Amino acid sequence: MPGFELFGEQEKQNVNEVLDSGVLMRYGFDGMRNGHWKAKALEQALCERMQTKYAQVVSSGTAALTVALASAGVGAGDEVIMPTFTFVASFESILAIGAVPILVDVDDTLTLSPSAVEKAITQKTKVIMPVHMCGSMADLKSLKAICDKHKLILLEDACQAIGGSFEGKPLGSYGDLGCFSFDYVKTITCGEGGALITNNEDFYIHADHYSDHGHDHVGNNRGTESHPFLGYNYRISELNAAVGCAQIQRLDEFLGIQERNFEVIYNALKTLDGVTFRRIPQGGKQNYSFLSFFLPTEELTKKVHSSLSERGVDACFYWFDNNWHYYRKWEHLTHMHSLGKLPEEIKEQLPDYSKSDFSASDYWIGRTISCLIKLSWTEKEVKERAEKMKNIVSEVLHA
Ligand SMILES: *Cc1c(COP(=O)(O)O)cnc(C)c1O
Repeated sequence: MPGFELFGEQEKQNVNEVLDSGVLMRYGFDGMRNGHWKAKALEQALCERMQTKYAQVVSSGTAALTVALASAGVGAGDEVIMPTFTFVASFESILAIGAVPILVDVDDTLTLSPSAVEKAITQKTKVIMPVHMCGSMADLKSLKAICDKHKLILLEDACQAIGGSFEGKPLGSYGDLGCFSFDYVKTITCGEGGALITNNEDFYIHADHYSDHGHDHVGNNRGTESHPFLGYNYRISELNAAVGCAQIQRLDEFLGIQERNFEVIYNALKTLDGVTFRRIPQGGKQNYSFLSFFLPTEELTKKVHSSLSERGVDACFYWFDNNWHYYRKWEHLTHMHSLGKLPEEIKEQLPDYSKSDFSASDYWIGRTISCLIKLSWTEKEVKERAEKMKNIVSEVLHA
């Protein structure tokens, strides 16, 4: 997902247009801006590409998740179901609005297990938040059925899976709300930025106001706008949006490169007995930003992972021991280390995660290696990498 690999002249030109106009803010200053509305243009491009009615671009993916939850009316004491394998932004955004993150096991899709989700639903559950980790999706059809049955909101965190699809719909557009990140390491980047997409007009209007201090954006005079409800500042700047406008035009080109590079490595590894791959739910097409595979045991997986890095195959991750992406290393959450006092709802309702049983997640994540698929590799480099990976895995498996 390396947005940091490919950017060029169009990005520079767009940024210069903003600098030349002198208007770095996304709202107002209509007379000065010479027709440059970069955040708005990025929203329009997202609506077209993602086939949704609405998009709200904000300052980060974490902000997009927070704004999405707030726009759906989620607040203190509401429970949000999220996976044990994700980026820390998932529980940060939930806690930020006073809601309670309910961690639930992942399965061989490496994202939310629908059967584990059903078991976790209570009277207080309001949202199911699958996270399409490492470029591929949760079983959205099953999760949608659960949401329909229990009248819950389906919020897709598609921050790592932009460009993938499920049953022909772009990831992020299948649920009630979908979020993207355009931080520096995602498939496309703004430097920093994020977006939510939805077909729900109320959610969109809420998101538009909430992300800008509650301003209703009626008319173009910030002095006379009204403020129907409280908000915060999650705005993106025009400079960041300008980069995103150029990047989104190249999304399909990037996806094509990722898929081509992925296939070379996949074809090499699939010949090996003992190597299996994450399950892609039926109807899904991943975005090929990572290749994730399983080995027969945790011990063998650790050996393969260290051999890969010792022998110079970079960008392969063993999430089980990684301190950002798996619940085992989230001590700040499990021990609730916060700078100030937490809302009572969170303190009372948060499960004691230091005692939780997530052995079903451990079973999969303990045997998973994910390799980042880069865009800048030459054909020769991908082939050599694939061959080298195949040899290393084979040697460890047969030692
Ligand atoms: C990157 C990421 C986020 C947060 O995005 P930022 O723009 O870095 O705030 C949220 N969820 C997932 C799965 C991510 O990978």
